[in-house]
Amino acid sequence: MQADLIGVVEVNLEQTLAQIQGAATVDVLKVQQAIVRATHQFMFERGLVQVMPLMLSPITDPLNHGVVDAAISYAGSRWSLTKSMIFHKQLALLNPELEALYIVSPNVRLEFADRAFTGRHLFEFTQIDFEFRDKDGAFVRSFMEDLVKYVFAAVKRDLPDVLAKYRSEPLQEFGPFKIFRTEELEAQYGPDYEHVKSKESTEPFWLLNHRREFYDKEDQEKPGTYLNYDLIWPDGYGEGLSGAERENEYHQILKRMDETGADKEAFKHYLEVAKQQGLPSSAGAGFGVERMARYLCRVKDINDVTLFSRRPGMPALF
Ligand code: AMP
Ligand code: MG
Repeated sequence: MQADLIGVVEVNLEQTLAQIQGAATVDVLKVQQAIVRATHQFMFERGLVQVMPLMLSPITDPLNHGVVDAAISYAGSRWSLTKSMIFHKQLALLNPELEALYIVSPNVRLEFADRAFTGRHLFEFTQIDFEFRDKDGAFVRSFMEDLVKYVFAAVKRDLPDVLAKYRSEPLQEFGPFKIFRTEELEAQYGPDYEHVKSKESTEPFWLLNHRREFYDKEDQEKPGTYLNYDLIWPDGYGEGLSGAERENEYHQILKRMDETGADKEAFKHYLEVAKQQGLPSSAGAGFGVERMARYLCRVKDINDVTLFSRRPGMPALF
């Protein structure tokens, strides 16, 4: 056995090769491929235009939790590796010809090592990110429910043997997803409400109203609450998608940036657009491809969905 010591964590070549050569990983990759293929088809049928991903940009998602900064200097500027393309989705909709778009978007989020064994976090992953002009949260949630139905049916049709291998019961067709609010579940289950509710549920459900990034719209009828939503996979698999109606008015963005402590200087051009011509009214969401594959194949650890280990805070050989 050959082992390398990088930092404080032992990286084992034997384990690394076992992961690359494992049969189960290929099954999950096939499911992931079926997800992406069916998603492209669904997006095409619904008229969303595909935008290609960017990996470097002067601005990226500030996220509502800390990660290690990933930035480089180039051409006299500072470029961040993409954590999500949220701002590019809004800016793309400045084009009047674009009504709706989607991106198969690689995200680099150098999560801290405390997320190494959550089963849900990688430090790079792929999110399918979409956004609609002049639509609201209810529209996006219903769109996502249709997408889930369409994609799961395609995986069942294309890979019945693979699914049967990992799921003791056939994958059911899920009806309209139930809707809960964070404040209600928190009152009922305490601070770990999302996990507890996911564990006791057998169907995906929506969770509304999270306090997080400045670009999620605040409900003007109920200040202090937010027009955002997460889709939670059941059986303890947890969050699978996040989305929101977007803040698009200059003064409201500034107010929310003050509240979240965002760096206004870094966003000066974005703010300039919001001030001068206004950002489009939009709503959208993004789901993690690896997390959907993990849920479908009932994989405990998301690091087993990928050939190449990307465990938060841990080194890898390749
Ligand atoms: P967010 O907007 O930050 O919630 O990210 C959108 C979606 O990407 C989430 O709902 C997850 O499905 C997925 N995702 C976020 N962070 C990670 C991660 N560190 N590893 C794998 N998937 C992730
Ligand atoms: Mg989220």
